[in-house]
Amino acid sequence: MSKIAFITGASSGFGKACAEKFAANGYNLILNARREDRLNEISNVLKEQYGIQILLRVFDVREQQAVSDAVTSLHDEWKAIDVLVNNAGLALGRDYFEEADLDDWNIMVDTNIKGFAYVAKAVSQLMVLRKQGHIINMGSVAGKLVYERGNMYCATKSAVDALSHAMRVDMLRHNIKVTAIHPGAAETEFSVVRFKGDETSARNVYAGLQPLTAADVADVIFYTTTLPPHVCINDLVITPTQQA
Ligand code: NDP
Repeated sequence: MSKIAFITGASSGFGKACAEKFAANGYNLILNARREDRLNEISNVLKEQYGIQILLRVFDVREQQAVSDAVTSLHDEWKAIDVLVNNAGLALGRDYFEEADLDDWNIMVDTNIKGFAYVAKAVSQLMVLRKQGHIINMGSVAGKLVYERGNMYCATKSAVDALSHAMRVDMLRHNIKVTAIHPGAAETEFSVVRFKGDETSARNVYAGLQPLTAADVADVIFYTTTLPPHVCINDLVITPTQQA
């Protein structure tokens, strides 16, 4: 059986690019997102192109029971997950702290921290049984360095950074690798989501620099999985060359 990668947030951006990269390298895939139509399209293309097997798991990472069911319902051969790309996440709003929308905050906390942790916990339980596996968590430079009007998004990615370290120290005894990836500005649907469909504000994010592509980030993520068993990249920051 080929290796298996479980990728959350695989309907666009980094997750989709990771699906393409891992598929091109012969992995079978378990793909998650909420938009089933997108996942179906991606899955059909990759199965056709690479002759791999793909399972879809359509759920919202914020729903604890749905996350657990999606993992526990896997057939035994699919439970042998080699790599988790724990990527689903979002930013909402770019407001000063005192003006920020509390609903935006709640969605970011529920998705980027709680949902992120639900997925990692459920998949790690399978990895622990096999005493092997690699969890790759999607952080951000926003979790390393707070920027103006980044408030709660930065806080959630700082939590991802902290939780990645926490997972790493707790997983050591099970031989499971944990890697946190922290990208800078990358052109995906991320900014359009953040600015709630305002394409001009979304584009302005990339003014004055050539942003990363989703494929740039997927290449780096895949690279971390190619190292020998005794070598682990714990923390990796990747930015556009022109980004401070
Ligand atoms: P996209 O908006 O292109 O992709 C986000 C993905 O997350 C989509 O597939 C979306 O799928 C999924 N998603 C969002 N919420 C949920 C949810 N509740 N349950 C399941 N899936 C969900 O953005 P990116 O690819 O850029 O973002 C991916 C990750 O990278 C995020 O964690 C983001 O914070 C991080 N990041 C992005 C940067 C950038 O500049 N682009 C920089 C640094 C980090 P669907 O809507 O179908 O559910």
